[in-house]
Amino acid sequence: MIGREDAGASAPGPLLSLRGVRKSFTTHGHTNVVLRSIDLDVAAGECVVLIGASGSGKSTLLRCVNLLETVDDGVITLDGAEITDPRVAVDRVRAKIGIVFQAYNLFPHQSVIDNITLAPIRVHKVAPAQARARAMEMLERVGLPDKAHARPDDLSGGQQQRVAIARALVNNPALMLLDEVTSALDPELVGDVLDLLGELCRDGMTMIVNTHEMTFARQIADRVCFLHGGEIHEQGTPEDVLGAPQQERTQQFLARLR
Ligand code: ADP
Ligand code: MG
Repeated sequence: MIGREDAGASAPGPLLSLRGVRKSFTTHGHTNVVLRSIDLDVAAGECVVLIGASGSGKSTLLRCVNLLETVDDGVITLDGAEITDPRVAVDRVRAKIGIVFQAYNLFPHQSVIDNITLAPIRVHKVAPAQARARAMEMLERVGLPDKAHARPDDLSGGQQQRVAIARALVNNPALMLLDEVTSALDPELVGDVLDLLGELCRDGMTMIVNTHEMTFARQIADRVCFLHGGEIHEQGTPEDVLGAPQQERTQQFLARLR
């Protein structure tokens, strides 16, 4: 099992909590409020799928959680500790969070195993032998143990994305953030990556998944959240939100996908 050990053994509340989170971007004197007021709780072991139109702020929300963006207002807590506190040790927060983006962002000139062990060795000061052993475990986990010494370019897009997931898992994160991880892949490669995420979810990993794959959302989500107007406009079980949406905006969004 991956992920449960760190996940809020002490905290009875949600593993992750966002309250009144606001994020805007100001360019050329114009302010674009992307997240107006986000309230969201994610329990340990829960898989939350975020859906919403392109530009609705799904990526921004994940980037705020990983402290890649500074929120304008509001509070985010992870495992009971406020991570939006300006005095927080950002590296220590990020060590608890694995993030995978649409483009896999592997270092092209390094082998798969070096890609996975780089941060543990350099940032987290794990002994190289131990880091490599852990990386091999993660490659087993994502079904690519024989690719340890391959270069990213020698792998398919789906395999590269599975390496990126292995890299994100290597610190044993309490929370995984997955941002449209299949949207850059050829359709025939999407299935393997989605299957892997489904397995992680069943193993008890806590995840927030941004996706436009509604079939996948239906399969793995414990809860689906529809982001619109800078807020979680509607949320509930996949059956409810995807099958019988209550809000007109949710209905319109889903109708456009069909
Ligand atoms: P989604 O992931 O739902 O497609 P994003 O979070 O990527 O949406 O973007 C939401 C909005 O925030 C968009 O209007 C985008 O242009 C804007 N945005 C995101 N990042 C930045 C940034 N660094 N600077 C300015 N605007 C940004
Ligand atoms: Mg996005």
